[in-house]
Amino acid sequence: MLEKGTSYFGVRDPKHAETDLDRFEEEGLNAILHTFSERDREYFYDLRDDLDLGYDGGAGTMEQIVAASKERGFRVYVNPWAVGRVFGGEAFSEFIGRNPESCQRLSTGERVPAACFNDPTFREFMREWTRDAASLGADVLFWDEPHWFIPEWHGENVPEGAWTCRCESCQAAYRERYDEQMPATQTERVDEFREAMLVDFLEEMMEITHEAGAKNAVCLLPSEDAEHGLRDWQQIAERDPLDILVTDPYWNIFDHADSAETFVSYFTEKVVSLADEYDLESQIWIQGFALDGDPETVEAVRTATREAVDGGVDSVFMWGYDACRTVSSIACEDPEAVWDAHLDELPDS
Ligand SMILES: [Zn+2]
Repeated sequence: MLEKGTSYFGVRDPKHAETDLDRFEEEGLNAILHTFSERDREYFYDLRDDLDLGYDGGAGTMEQIVAASKERGFRVYVNPWAVGRVFGGEAFSEFIGRNPESCQRLSTGERVPAACFNDPTFREFMREWTRDAASLGADVLFWDEPHWFIPEWHGENVPEGAWTCRCESCQAAYRERYDEQMPATQTERVDEFREAMLVDFLEEMMEITHEAGAKNAVCLLPSEDAEHGLRDWQQIAERDPLDILVTDPYWNIFDHADSAETFVSYFTEKVVSLADEYDLESQIWIQGFALDGDPETVEAVRTATREAVDGGVDSVFMWGYDACRTVSSIACEDPEAVWDAHLDELPDS
């Protein structure tokens, strides 16, 4: 059976969340991704032990929301929403403010607002995040768009040719790996190193996830270059602790506005074939944000959903619920039309 899901965020009142979950169930969905940002973990995870707040079962807020999802039969995904600013998402990172020394450094020496995958403090922080996320009762931890700092995403004025990361931890790891000093120019070996370190980081976190009894999904950005992730996706597909290979071909933001069909079908074919080869599940995300209300755009949502379903993926999600109606900075112009178009193209079973 096709898995059909959406991402869910922003609502932290379990009673309100239950109302939405009931509706998603009625609309035919059977999976949900709950964002678990640094803020969620700081304020909606723990339960005060010195005060009876009257919560059902004595669980923290996020645990209650996850439990309510599972009660309705959803497979539950949890993602590190913008944690350390090295994963995708509309959330802030307190970690990078508290730990400036753990941030990535440009090849020209300046620090950037994103944690470094090789920094030991961030690594430990993420081990703890992983254990906490799994302890919510998540079925799957969703490693969402892991990437080294991408300057154009943040409007940073980065010197020409500068790249990350050349912090002390990265320089030490590079020296250890290649027995030479890390260059200040972005060589082929630097790209190879960045990819290898990204995979190394994910593999460690995914092993912790498995130890905690949850599965792993890795969502790669829909590009095949070292700037956005991995040139060769086999590098992640072949890792033992990976269970679900995912990408999010958001045609309208990745400069493919006119080609939802070809963009989505290309990446659908890519994850499906790699998933077959490595005995994984495959998943595609459909763009449900930042779309205008033109009929052609809504039609493109239909096309994208059809391409993913017909392409044979195991799972289709939309980012995000109600086409991001509640997130004014990225909401769709006609969120209801987008959401309904997507749901309409999903098969009943
Ligand atoms: Zn670094």
